[in-house]
Amino acid sequence: MRRAILFDKDGVLVDNSMYPRPPKAELLPEAVEAFRLLSGAPYALCVVSNQSWIGKGEMTKEEVDAVFETICGKAVEYGARIDGCYYCPHREEDGCSCRKPSPELLLRAAKDLEVCLEQSFMVGDQDSDIIAGQRAGTRTVYVGSRAGKSKPEVVVPNVAEAMHYILSQR
Ligand SMILES: [Mg+2]
Ligand SMILES: [Zn+2]
Repeated sequence: MRRAILFDKDGVLVDNSMYPRPPKAELLPEAVEAFRLLSGAPYALCVVSNQSWIGKGEMTKEEVDAVFETICGKAVEYGARIDGCYYCPHREEDGCSCRKPSPELLLRAAKDLEVCLEQSFMVGDQDSDIIAGQRAGTRTVYVGSRAGKSKPEVVVPNVAEAMHYILSQR
């Protein structure tokens, strides 16, 4: 079974500072560095993301899909390959089963990609990412200055530092 790195998208791979406006598909410089670091690394790479932009009518499904496609294309450009993108299109008040902190997207990815969750890492900038990882049984890396009520394995300032941490663990 492979190991995976499961990335949150907004605030981790792309700039989310325009919130509550949807982010663009432009990678953060630290995400470019992360993909370069992952070139040849023995991990399946996956994005698991809450995209309530769709449920709120801020973006269409086609627009969201195009953003993921752009990110995957750029990852390849920098030497990494993203094996799967999974997202929840719902709003929090819809009470769906897939929105993080539900582990559903992570479990779906693990099944499709045949990865061992216990040896995989969830990388996110919200408590909901960390909790989803914990519920799915992954190791957890919080990107940001400090985690709130969740208890990640480690807190790092950005996604490039997250890769340094993960790659130092083997
Ligand atoms: Mg985020
Ligand atoms: Zn959902």
